[in-house]
Amino acid sequence: MRITLHRGAGIATAAVALVLPLALAGPASADPDPTQLTKTISAPALKQRLQKLQQIADANGGTRAAGTSGHDASRDYVAGELKKAGYKVTIQPFEFPFFTENTNALLQQISPEPKVYTPTPIDGSSVGEFATMTYSGSGDVTAPLQNVDLMIPPGPTPSSSTSGCEASDFAGFTPGNIALLQRGTCAFQAKAENAQAAGAAGAIILNEGQEGRTETLQGTLGGPTVTIPVVGVSFAVGEELASPAGTVVRLKTDTTSELRTTHNVIADSKWGDANKVVQLGAHLDSVLAGPGINDNGSGSAAILEVASKLGKIPTRNKLRFSFWSAEELGLLGSEHYVASLSPEERAKIKLYLNFDMVASPNYALKIYDGDDSDATGAPAGPAGSDEIEKLFEKYFDALRQGHVGTDFDGRSDYGPFMDTGIASGGLFTGAEGVKTPEEQAMFGGTAGQAYDACYHQACDTIANINDKALALNTGAIATAAVVYAFSRDLPGPDTRATTAARNATQR
Ligand SMILES: [Zn+2]
Repeated sequence: MRITLHRGAGIATAAVALVLPLALAGPASADPDPTQLTKTISAPALKQRLQKLQQIADANGGTRAAGTSGHDASRDYVAGELKKAGYKVTIQPFEFPFFTENTNALLQQISPEPKVYTPTPIDGSSVGEFATMTYSGSGDVTAPLQNVDLMIPPGPTPSSSTSGCEASDFAGFTPGNIALLQRGTCAFQAKAENAQAAGAAGAIILNEGQEGRTETLQGTLGGPTVTIPVVGVSFAVGEELASPAGTVVRLKTDTTSELRTTHNVIADSKWGDANKVVQLGAHLDSVLAGPGINDNGSGSAAILEVASKLGKIPTRNKLRFSFWSAEELGLLGSEHYVASLSPEERAKIKLYLNFDMVASPNYALKIYDGDDSDATGAPAGPAGSDEIEKLFEKYFDALRQGHVGTDFDGRSDYGPFMDTGIASGGLFTGAEGVKTPEEQAMFGGTAGQAYDACYHQACDTIANINDKALALNTGAIATAAVVYAFSRDLPGPDTRATTAARNATQR
């Protein structure tokens, strides 16, 4: 069979190549012909799903981030489509710390030297002379500044300072004052909590001052545990504020920092052996800054379209489609899901396939390096990850389409699955990284430029999608889903081996 992909050929053409990988996987002749199913996936249908996500963002302040109405609407859309397609849908709630800065912060020295410091703007476009700590509370306070156990000049090594780490540091602290603290020894959160407990109206944390610890301090308090404004400053600004006795400052932050509930969407097919689960996943949340149509509307639309085609087909193994929330805040949804599984439920998941950004405008077709053949970065994935990588390679090879590896670094939702020993794999077309000349030769586009110049920005819209990459990758996803849904010999260790290994490590 000769395969040609031309402009706008779409997935129907790409799907012709499914015959080869399927033949290698060896479905029994009694099984329905899965290539017929994947051929029904069309590029316009996929694009329509992305349009829907764009409309949801447009109607909800330009974002689909976890904890916003845009994510809730995305969740409802996906859950509705999956139910229509015949899946048993579970909405899994979990709490996470939400944070956003609503307006630019303000830091002024009122006396003795009137001076206004440059803020780090809320769009993150530059770094100012100070920066609001993530999970800072809100407030507008003008008060005397009070030094708390500062070490100026700085100690010889990082974390010489213990400023604000012990409650006793605040023994002479006047409630209502703003605490001036220094980086070092304990978490910013502990310093801020101690300052608030001592009655501070606000806190300013200066960088510690050694080489590499002088710039504007940008940090996180880890969660919404303080209500006072907390900002970081450079060592130089901190030194300036600390020197004159009787310094009065105005400090203003305007944030939303609170625990919110968000949801994963998990869809199980009605068919197949419940002890052999083939799981696919994509994160459905965007960042706050934009609609997230490539990151990760693309992966979400692709697996949703594949799911919708497979829902009514009796398969040998059980298919599970998952749409994670709060990936952008640190894989929180997939971590919550994996942690919530009993050891028995975990052992039933034979493999996990992840799709995060599969239509980058300046794309490269990247396959997670499950066998560490690229010998860079993270080591190989769990047993069976190598086989998943090979399946995707065969798919692209059959299309005479080049492909490259991408390090299995755990930077998306396969991380928690990998950590628990589940064979994993997936596809990626690049984010803020820069395309190489070799990749330009293989895929076109522009070397020396980002794969996705709109990564995590407001411009990650429907216009930020490469249709060819989307079609090729959705064909690959459909192939993998069908091959593994019907496989008698799934990748990875068998259940008994996994159980034995677990018992051994517990003794
Ligand atoms: Zn992503």
